[in-house]
Amino acid sequence: MATGETYETHEYDVLVIGAGGAGLRAAIEASAQGARTALVCKSLLGKAHTVMAEGGIAAAMGNVWPEDNWQVHFRDTMRGGKMLNNWRMAQLHAMESPDRVLELEEWGALFDRTRDGLILQRDFGGHRYARLAHVGDRTGLEMIRTLQQRAVHLGIDVHMECNVQRLLKDGDRIGGAFGYWRATGTLVLFRSKAVVLASMTYSAAWGVGGTAVFPARAIERRRSIHHCQVPTTPRGNNSVTAMNNPPSMNSQYGANGPEVNVVLA
Ligand SMILES: Cc1cc2nc3c(=O)[nH]c(=O)nc-3n(C[C@H](O)[C@H](O)[C@H](O)COP(=O)(O)OP(=O)(O)OC[C@H]3O[C@@H](n4cnc5c(N)ncnc54)[C@H](O)[C@@H]3O)c2cc1C
Repeated sequence: MATGETYETHEYDVLVIGAGGAGLRAAIEASAQGARTALVCKSLLGKAHTVMAEGGIAAAMGNVWPEDNWQVHFRDTMRGGKMLNNWRMAQLHAMESPDRVLELEEWGALFDRTRDGLILQRDFGGHRYARLAHVGDRTGLEMIRTLQQRAVHLGIDVHMECNVQRLLKDGDRIGGAFGYWRATGTLVLFRSKAVVLASMTYSAAWGVGGTAVFPARAIERRRSIHHCQVPTTPRGNNSVTAMNNPPSMNSQYGANGPEVNVVLA
């Protein structure tokens, strides 16, 4: 920073970088636990990949196929990830997603229904049973709308159009993050006891491609992560990759799925 250049400062217990499904849900939980929580997103609130998800939310609720259960979902997830997934995250994902869907409904999401009035579930590639809870082809929109309303209702501070560039360390501990307001270029410092990185999946760490890659490419990319240079795109995960290369907590590496990395102070 040039000498004499000023920056504004904010202070929180928990700073969540990213306001897609992962970040919103993490912020809601932190706030519900009594932490002073803020969300930072580089775009407008609501403009995240999450809003584009069309297929639905995979959850073994058994509403269409009573035979379905979390174990089968777990198997499908591990198989889809060619066993490269973080198995514990895949297990938690399979076990907890039905509760997350019901929670979204409780918070106001309106899912399509079966004739009996249950949440309708549909087929999707790689899933043994039809298990995607959905809202037509706009599930992501309904999800992000619901989570945003919940977050705003809880009084969580939301900093939009703020691009985080660096995580900051205080000795050996994470002490916050540094970025700039996109509209003005003004610099901003967030001091925080904990930082949650929810700035998109690790596929963002490569210069090409997105979340939907073919399994073979996913394996290729997984192998190359250890050689990954800090890429040109200034996404949040990249700053932490540059610092520590922590393990990914994505349950479906190389496939669809929100990702959260927690960096504790
Ligand atoms: C077209 C499409 C269809 C899909 N369909 C499905 C589906 O049917 N079912 C399914 O399960 N998944 C689907 N997915 C995948 C799914 O949408 C994503 O895996 C999921 O939404 C990722 O959520 P997230 O919260 O991790 O990231 P995102 O929703 O991408 O949110 C990332 C957030 O991080 C912020 N951010 C990034 N970098 C910075 C930075 N440097 N500073 C500040 N903020 C930053 C962004 O502004 C954004 O708010 C689909 C994806 C796409 C693109």
